[in-house]
Amino acid sequence: MAIKSAEEYVESVKNQDPKIHQGGKRIKDLFKNPTTKSVIDATAKMYELAMDPTFEATMTAQSHLIDEKINRSLHVNGSIADLRKRADMAQLTAQKVGTCNYRCVGCDAINTMASVTWEMDRDLSTDYNERFNEYLKYLQKNDLACSGAMTDAKGDRSKRPGGQEDPDVYVHVSEKRKDGIVVRGAKVNQSGAIAANETFVIPGQALREGEEEFAVAFAVPNGAKGITYICQYTPYTAERNMAEDIHELGNPVYGQRETALMVFDDVFVPWERVFMCGEVKYTRQLVARFAKIHRMNCGGACKVGFADLLIGATQLLVEYAGLSKVAHVREKITDMIAISETARACTLASAVEGTEEPEGSGVFLPDDMFGNVAKLNIANGFWEMMKIAGDLAGGLVVTMPSERELKNPETMEYMEKFFKTTVPAEKRLRITKFLQHWIAGQHGPGTWHGAGPVQAQRVMVARLANLEEKKDMAKELAGLNEDESDN
Ligand SMILES: Cc1cc2nc3c(=O)[nH]c(=O)nc-3n(C[C@H](O)[C@H](O)[C@H](O)COP(=O)(O)OP(=O)(O)OC[C@H]3O[C@@H](n4cnc5c(N)ncnc54)[C@H](O)[C@@H]3O)c2cc1C
Repeated sequence: MAIKSAEEYVESVKNQDPKIHQGGKRIKDLFKNPTTKSVIDATAKMYELAMDPTFEATMTAQSHLIDEKINRSLHVNGSIADLRKRADMAQLTAQKVGTCNYRCVGCDAINTMASVTWEMDRDLSTDYNERFNEYLKYLQKNDLACSGAMTDAKGDRSKRPGGQEDPDVYVHVSEKRKDGIVVRGAKVNQSGAIAANETFVIPGQALREGEEEFAVAFAVPNGAKGITYICQYTPYTAERNMAEDIHELGNPVYGQRETALMVFDDVFVPWERVFMCGEVKYTRQLVARFAKIHRMNCGGACKVGFADLLIGATQLLVEYAGLSKVAHVREKITDMIAISETARACTLASAVEGTEEPEGSGVFLPDDMFGNVAKLNIANGFWEMMKIAGDLAGGLVVTMPSERELKNPETMEYMEKFFKTTVPAEKRLRITKFLQHWIAGQHGPGTWHGAGPVQAQRVMVARLANLEEKKDMAKELAGLNEDESDN
């Protein structure tokens, strides 16, 4: 049971009854709505990959808690080798679905809390780590899809959580009871939460004394009483809803990265599912550790997987156009590869340079500098790759008629005649549509913001870099007098 099949996961979704809205309507059946169906399909693919012998080593791991093979999405990294495999999984799953794998944020939140609960128990004699391990065993034994909720609505950014007109813009504890807590608020941008079995919720920022009600980490089952999901609605949602044939779409089966606003309207959480409640002092390391892990996986490796698809499609298109041997075309494709491989190198470096944190916890976290640089590099590099792909694809990438015209007897002949290149029109249009999905859609800002705003990585890189040491190196070689006070 510890490794579930895609079919078993799909069955588990059928037994859930979340309250979901999209485009002004309530969604009653996730399987009938083409957008929510794409989330189920992408999540199911993660289960399928774990059962495929080719990908088993990347997609599964040996649990340290239940002595069974488990899906790596529920594994706590206990070594450098684990970190490398985790990064490999992020890249592989991105290549296989071309969208979010929907188990990533949950996995990284689990790893964060494995480390932070251990530390709290060590310092405060609490029993959070014990509770956490019991909960994790439950997830692992049942191979549950777990999403991760960190990003609060945040309201007026110039004010702290406690200073907001409406405290609900940050998830917070509204009541403490003997048997548990009641939480209110909302998390935005929740990837795949609608079709997950569980959501792991953690604070979105470091908190101070006086902000205890916001220092809360807990887990809820999908659709628990009081939870409402309000799905994103974009031109791509409308396009999917209107498609007559799924193959008209850029990423036919798995679609866009789908998220929802997840509202917690007085949701009861029993104590056994609460992993932090008021310990503001530990929120700083919680946020920092989550950032480290998520920047290696979501910020770095996953986007390298996306880049592989982007580069592959661009190369196909130039080959179809008969341009693949042209010097500037080859150079531009090479530039794309260099950007992507640099990010991959940073991602791998962050895994290889990872350390146990805190010492004795058994939890390994990636190197901070390399993880941040991986995300910074790809955030900037993805726009550059999109630019090159757009250049090489030509205007058709934003002007192409629908593939439906190829089936319409009135237009078919013109379509075949004028869009034929070295390959028939259908092939050219299909891959152009695929590229449109990458470069004229949501992936630029999505890649920029996913795993945290870029400014946060700049701040971290500046903080981690030892500029004094670099200045001293330069001074030494330049022969500058050490005694001079020239700061
Ligand atoms: C496709 C996608 C999937 C995602 N999936 C998830 C998910 O599954 N779970 C999850 O929890 N989150 C998820 N996120 C959220 C993501 O982590 C956030 O979008 C990201 O952290 C940026 O936060 P924000 O969107 O609130 O932007 P903001 O914080 O509003 O940032 C916008 C701009 O304002 C600046 N800014 C904001 N506040 C301040 C301040 N106080 N001082 C100075 N500058 C400021 C930022 O630097 C940035 O330039 C996802 C995001 C995307 C795009």
